[in-house]
Amino acid sequence: MGSVKDYFKSLGSGVASLLKGMQVTGKEFVTPKITEFYPEDRDTYKWPERFRAVLELIYDQDGNHKCIACGTCERNCPNGTITIQSKMVDTPAGTKKKKLDNYIYDLGTCTFCNLCVISCPTDALRFSNDFEQSVFTRSKLVKKLNYLPEKPEPELTEEQKAKLAAEKEAKIAAAKAKAAALKAEREAAAAGNDKPAQEAPKADDAAAKALAAAKGDPEKEAKIKAALERAAALKAQREAAKKDGNQ
Ligand code: SF4
Ligand code: SF4
Repeated sequence: MGSVKDYFKSLGSGVASLLKGMQVTGKEFVTPKITEFYPEDRDTYKWPERFRAVLELIYDQDGNHKCIACGTCERNCPNGTITIQSKMVDTPAGTKKKKLDNYIYDLGTCTFCNLCVISCPTDALRFSNDFEQSVFTRSKLVKKLNYLPEKPEPELTEEQKAKLAAEKEAKIAAAKAKAAALKAEREAAAAGNDKPAQEAPKADDAAAKALAAAKGDPEKEAKIKAALERAAALKAQREAAKKDGNQ
């Protein structure tokens, strides 16, 4: 009697297990497929934006990138994947400027940690999700990221030229004012206490000129005033020291 009962019990559990299996199969049967048919669906398939496949310099529509060759990404890369080669160029303003020469990236050693991208101070980098990077030799994984031809430094606008000229003039005038103040002070020290009063106007003239040239630029005005104050303080200090020496 017991064996018949066991028989029906195991039959019931077998049927329940079969129904459960059929339920899973039925559910998967109606679930949309997630398998990709690469490369057949290459033209239509969209990879997730955040997928990191290869590092790239961001170029704008005019073919300019924002890399200033500071080397921060190179220093932050834990694998030595990045090599920044820079050079100095002349600018139309007559100054020297550090510029990117070669941005070398070795995809074969990159671990896609993104440290280079987040540490870049100018947001010049990003990861592309272009995953088709297979090549036959490792050397082909070494890429030059600044691949577009280098553009010449932009010419100065009339406004920038005028600003530069005004700055230059203000600097010269400030230097002259400082030199005149020092000269007046030395001459006063050499001739006695009555002469400085006669020589002082020279320094005042130069200071007035410098301030007039810097008019409209509060930063320059402040600088000139600070230089004049320093010269006056120095003068007072020396005169006080001289008086102390005479007593
Ligand atoms: S990509 Fe960014 S961090 Fe790297 S050198 Fe250029 S500006 Fe500096
Ligand atoms: S993602 Fe990481 S490993 Fe790759 S270049 Fe940037 S810092 Fe180096």
